[in-house]
Amino acid sequence: MSYQVFALKYRPQTFDEVVAQEAVTTTLKNAVRLKRLHHAYLLTGPRGIGKTSLARLFSKALNCQKGPTPDPCNACPLCQDITRGRSLDVLEIDGASNTSVDDVRELRENIKYTPASGRYKIYIIDEVHMLSTSAFNALLKTLEEPPPHAIFIFATTEPQKLPATILSRVLRFDLRRIPAAKIMESLSSIAKKEGIKVDQEGLFLIAREAAGSLRDALSLMDQVVSFSGSAIKASQVREALGILSHDSVFEMTDLIFKRDARGAMDKIREIFEGGLDVKRWSGNLLNHFRHLLVSQIEPQGGQEVLQDFLPEEREKIMAQAKQGSWADLDRMFQILYRAYEEMARSTYPKTLLEITCLRLCHLESVQSIQEILQRLETLSSSPKPAVLPPLGPPSEISPVPSWLGFLAFVKSHKPQLASMLEHGSLVSMEHERLIISYPQGSIYYEVVQDPERMVVLVSLAQKFFKKEMKIEWILQEGSPPPDPAKMGRSHSIVDEALAIFDPQETRVVERKS
Ligand SMILES: [Zn+2]
Repeated sequence: MSYQVFALKYRPQTFDEVVAQEAVTTTLKNAVRLKRLHHAYLLTGPRGIGKTSLARLFSKALNCQKGPTPDPCNACPLCQDITRGRSLDVLEIDGASNTSVDDVRELRENIKYTPASGRYKIYIIDEVHMLSTSAFNALLKTLEEPPPHAIFIFATTEPQKLPATILSRVLRFDLRRIPAAKIMESLSSIAKKEGIKVDQEGLFLIAREAAGSLRDALSLMDQVVSFSGSAIKASQVREALGILSHDSVFEMTDLIFKRDARGAMDKIREIFEGGLDVKRWSGNLLNHFRHLLVSQIEPQGGQEVLQDFLPEEREKIMAQAKQGSWADLDRMFQILYRAYEEMARSTYPKTLLEITCLRLCHLESVQSIQEILQRLETLSSSPKPAVLPPLGPPSEISPVPSWLGFLAFVKSHKPQLASMLEHGSLVSMEHERLIISYPQGSIYYEVVQDPERMVVLVSLAQKFFKKEMKIEWILQEGSPPPDPAKMGRSHSIVDEALAIFDPQETRVVERKS
């Protein structure tokens, strides 16, 4: 006997062999047992999950010599003809290649005749959504008044494309994607029958690549077996199926989080030279950011959504997700998503990936509104003790209660201004003169001297001390010199921002348009 691919060889021959569609198989079996039959059924769901297999099984259940029975014998000529696809009473039509009204007209002519040997004449129309509008109209006439011996079983991956007039005349069953665990079970039992040894991780990788389709999983296993023989390790599965090691995606994400543009460029070169498909790898990176976002879901940390991962992979994802805020991850995902879409049309995917990663590396962190509000709150409410001047002889240090009183007074009128003052230290408050010092390099030293701010401060001082006060600023000696990168701020918006955010964590970049 010639070699048969697993997907055909292990096509389910009984309802019980159908994987993970219990709700549908139970209903169909009961329908046969109770002889409560409809004239038209619709099976929907993603590819490779058993729609046409179920349609054939149902046909057997109806036409089996020992039936109608929920357990067709698979041995009688009628069952066998259906298995081999040559039954005269069970006609499989590919909706994708028989889309015209003529095809349906032929079907309508044909349907009048009673079945050749079975009880029913069954039409299985796969990908029925591909039929043309006129073909649907012709079909509708048959569905409105079907001959008693006729049964239609439609299958489609896109039920939303079917006209409402058709949908309202069918009994619909939505088949679900098969969970990875179920696919692993099936693969494992088939591997046993075939004398193939696959480790658990290998099975898991195949199941994950198949994305819910048992047929795809079996085809992939075929592929792996022809690549590595009957003893299969996870590494061979990776190699055979071109599954990219997840490590490079984790590493790139780390580089992006560290804003390491140089490292990111090196990584892309490595990926490219390693012969990996840049588009596919970018898709993996995009998906990885999806996983990072999902794993931030409270309270279970997205564990259930990440069930398609090995436990250690899941832990790694969750640990990495903690390094980024939701807002940052979301923004990065958006950028990657747009780039990935562009990549599909681009002839320069590598360049696009490089620019995208550079962009991600240069992305400034965003702060949520909550964080900003919280900081504003802290600035305006938490009383900070006045900083004692660390330098100078004791005689010069004269922090008196009225200085603290002045700070409180300023705070009640201009909280931000008060916070700037609090970063300095009072040096002297004599002869109607306030001298305030700042450490070398303190950005508040520049910020507080803004002319508008000075006007406000002088007038507040006058109100508080009940006399005209001069205010002078000095820099303390012996501290590190000011960071040249932090010099040259002169815009009031920058000053405002610096008053809100921690200046040590804030970088001012001039944007040239
Ligand atoms: Zn039979």
